[in-house]
Amino acid sequence: MIGRASILTYGCQMNEADTTDIGQALKRAGYELTRSWDQSDLVVLNTCAIREKAEDRIRGTLGHLKSLRARRPWLVVGVMGCMAAQSADYLSHEADFVIPPMEAGQLSEVLAGLPPPPGLGEEEGDLPPLEMNQETPFKRFLPIIRGCNHRCTFCVVPNTRGPEYYEPPEELFQKVGEMRDRGVLEVTLLGQTVNAYVHGGWTFATLLQEMAHRFPAVGFRFITSHPRQFSDEIIEVMATRPNVMPYLHLPLQAGSDRVLRRMKRLYTFAEYEALVGRVRSAVPDLALSTDIICGFPGETEEDFDRTLEAMKRIRFESAFMFYYSERPGTAAVNLDGKLPIPARKERLARLIRLQKDIQMEVNQSEVGRRRRCLVERTSKKDPAVMLARTPSNKGVLVPGPESLIGSYLELEIQRADSFILFASQRA
Ligand code: SF4
Repeated sequence: MIGRASILTYGCQMNEADTTDIGQALKRAGYELTRSWDQSDLVVLNTCAIREKAEDRIRGTLGHLKSLRARRPWLVVGVMGCMAAQSADYLSHEADFVIPPMEAGQLSEVLAGLPPPPGLGEEEGDLPPLEMNQETPFKRFLPIIRGCNHRCTFCVVPNTRGPEYYEPPEELFQKVGEMRDRGVLEVTLLGQTVNAYVHGGWTFATLLQEMAHRFPAVGFRFITSHPRQFSDEIIEVMATRPNVMPYLHLPLQAGSDRVLRRMKRLYTFAEYEALVGRVRSAVPDLALSTDIICGFPGETEEDFDRTLEAMKRIRFESAFMFYYSERPGTAAVNLDGKLPIPARKERLARLIRLQKDIQMEVNQSEVGRRRRCLVERTSKKDPAVMLARTPSNKGVLVPGPESLIGSYLELEIQRADSFILFASQRA
């Protein structure tokens, strides 16, 4: 070991998957990974630029790391991820190295050029080693597409991650085979627009079909899907392959066609609703989640009402809801009709209230059902309670010992609130 390193991950699952790669590069370079970043010799921030709030948190952490340098002057700070592309000028004054997503392969070279930390050996050596990131040993993420070819007017991803790049299918099959051999039970295929996958004669539907066929003991999920490219062939695979899990994350973003046009989302609400109808009738136990942005430039009260109406009609099982925040370099920055922040926040509060009520009702329909769930970890609040997940990705709390982690249980759902289900084990 040449030193201790930690990775602070912000943002989406794509970043979590990238953190696995960063962790492997750090280990190859001789670093031991630790969660104790205040006792590390090297800290890598894997950043997100998608919202202003995430950037503010990262700027705050960089400030803390600066003050840590007073105690550990050899500390090396690196920044990777989307903010490394979006705010490279600012970061070049705050960090020792800055590597944007499209150049992530340079990390090993950069690490090889770093001096060994002189503080090594001066501190207690009993720091808990970090076993990679928030993925569990049974659930892994697998990026199949990087970048995005769309140009949604609010989004930095095309600027920070570049155009779409598709991983070759044979390499993906090999990686899933290796995961399966290591005991991985569920694999989530990742991409900003995962269903846009193409490679040679492969489409996302044929890739998913082949994955499910070759690895019948592995459960597959995929995120994030763009409604415009969601083909009937994908629905067919979801409906016919039992190991493709009944979960779909399909961002709607807004219920008003006028706002959707200004966002350049390339579909109308009617098209979105029709697509949801087709998927739900083919996959009866489907859980549908979404992303919603309120307070987009020019959004009138009537537009916002359409979003509320859309949520009542679709009844999402879960939703990630945000108020619009300006991202430098995106087209929406130049749109007229900016709403004051308090007005955006007020609309977000209304959205959240509505969605909470819908989730409460939707989750009640789970009560009395039996679900085969994968036990993921102990509950944060009570070590005698386990957190498991239904095939449709709903969290379930169930009493039980830690030894259940990584096993499938047949659970009977006994009660539910807006955010979680509660179960007993079936005799
Ligand atoms: S589809 Fe739109 S929101 Fe999603 S990553 Fe691409 S540009 Fe961003």
